Amino acid sequence: MFSALNRNNFIEKLQEKEFDLLVIGGGITGAGIAFDAASRGMSVALVEKQDFAAGTSSRSTKLIHGGLRYLKQLEFALVAEVGQEREIVYRNAPHLVIPEKMLLPITENGSLNMFSSSIGIYVYDVLAGVERSERRRMLSKQETIAHEPLLKREKLKGAALYTEYRTDDARLTIEILKTAVDKGAICMNYISAEEFIYREGKVAGAKVHDVISGKDFEIKAKKVVNACGPWVDKLREKDNSLKGKRLHLTKGVHIVFEHKRFPLSQSLYFDVSDGRMIFAIPRGNATYVGTTDTNYTGELERPEVTQEDVDYLLTAVNAMFEGINLTQNDVTSSWCGLRPLIHEDGKSPSELSRKDEIFVSESNVISIAGGKLTGYRKMAEKTVNLVAKQLTAETGKSFSSCNTDRIILSGGNFNSPTAISGFIRSLNHIARTVDCSEEETQRLVYKYGTNTSLILEKAKELSSVSEAEIWYCVNHEMTTSLSDFLIRRTGKLYFERPEIVDNYKETAKYLAICLDQEQTEQKKALAEFENEFESVLNFQQNRLEVPIS
Ligand code: FAD
Repeated sequence: MFSALNRNNFIEKLQEKEFDLLVIGGGITGAGIAFDAASRGMSVALVEKQDFAAGTSSRSTKLIHGGLRYLKQLEFALVAEVGQEREIVYRNAPHLVIPEKMLLPITENGSLNMFSSSIGIYVYDVLAGVERSERRRMLSKQETIAHEPLLKREKLKGAALYTEYRTDDARLTIEILKTAVDKGAICMNYISAEEFIYREGKVAGAKVHDVISGKDFEIKAKKVVNACGPWVDKLREKDNSLKGKRLHLTKGVHIVFEHKRFPLSQSLYFDVSDGRMIFAIPRGNATYVGTTDTNYTGELERPEVTQEDVDYLLTAVNAMFEGINLTQNDVTSSWCGLRPLIHEDGKSPSELSRKDEIFVSESNVISIAGGKLTGYRKMAEKTVNLVAKQLTAETGKSFSSCNTDRIILSGGNFNSPTAISGFIRSLNHIARTVDCSEEETQRLVYKYGTNTSLILEKAKELSSVSEAEIWYCVNHEMTTSLSDFLIRRTGKLYFERPEIVDNYKETAKYLAICLDQEQTEQKKALAEFENEFESVLNFQQNRLEVPIS
């Protein structure tokens, strides 16, 4: 089982043999590679130095894009590929990939006009393989206001309404990892790769450090992939191979409001006075807005949201919506991610390509950077094709070709996306016996998919469904701390921060029981979370008055 209680056992297994592949980095890129390689029959180890998805893969806009920006750059084949990938992940994890209509308002003096948007998004829909009934519709001014009454009317001309998909990036990463583990991979969080091991000049594994126990050990592997996102170049430095192309990090900030304070009816993608575009997306009891895109050279673990970032987003929102007058005081949470893009001379952050690229060093460390959540499966396929080719040449062993497009991800075992509501109804009986409301059952299903039945079954033995959810995350999702649970497994720090103030200490207590934590460990985990809890609003210190346009 993918249980935090099995850590010692996994650590022993990591030292027992030489693996075909060691993946360093447990964001969506590393998770996808471990999943692909394990499903082709390779023996796979994956190590992540923080929690899974604690890097960029829990800090995105949380959309499975069809690649509209690629159309602007006339990359037609890429739009088609991304559209196809979106369809595959929707089919294989329908509990985490939810169709979402996106409104693209068109205003006087804006960077978009009705004619070019109509043609552009139509071409995009066709290339991305969007079903006829789901293709974009152009709306008149009145229709646009009916969809989103909060929009300022003065300069509004109309809108395009098109299909996007929203996701939960950290949960998608964890479901991919659980599927990799089902296929035999050993994947561990809080294990940091410190140095590479070499044999005859070629990489042969890594010296690693267990952040939890403090122990060091070695993992031997025939092939090593560096999937460290923003840290890719740090690992290339350790391999003395940081030459030629490099990463260019850009920072992206999102801010969150209570939905009752910013009561959007509908997701929007709108242009800002500097020519960029930002999203405003309602989600549960919250509405979030993002993102910024600025060059970043600071420390990588905890990039900070600044007042300048928040003011940029507030100014954009206040300019677009009538009488909303949001200020820094209204922000209830925030997050900040780093895009691991490939540097191109003379390009601004927004102009840099989001395409992925593989670098192979002389010692054969295979590094992969760039890309998007949406393209994770294709990035994995390309990387594992290379690994398989090398392994076959060296060992004679052959591996099947990539078949991850046909593998349902953990929790996604529905006959079709439309079967989710039927599944929720089928849980009614057991939900009633454990006092779980329909709303709560629905919340669980859109996080854990078909695995929700395990949580509800367990709730029969425990005092509440909340306890059963914590139990599940510890025993089936390697949750080792309060922050893992409240940030990456459930997203509550971002979307339910005001609600968790009253109960996070209770959560901490039950989590400590599940993890069999001693008092000092429990206190440390609580303090770490409280630090995160405060830090999402750090920018509010020395608040400035925000100009209202
Ligand atoms: P990461 O998620 O950062 O994973 C790398 C991991 O490596 C980290 O967890 C890190 O801890 C680990 N690591 C580093 N060093 C070591 C070591 N020595 N040992 C062990 N582990 C190590 N894409 C979309 O498709 N849709 C979106 O809506 C979207 N929005 C975005 C918005 C923003 C603001 C940003 C920044 C990105 C967005 N993206 C989006 C892009 C997408 O989020 C990223 O491309 C993707 O998450 C990168 O994943 P990764 O696994 O490569 O990197």
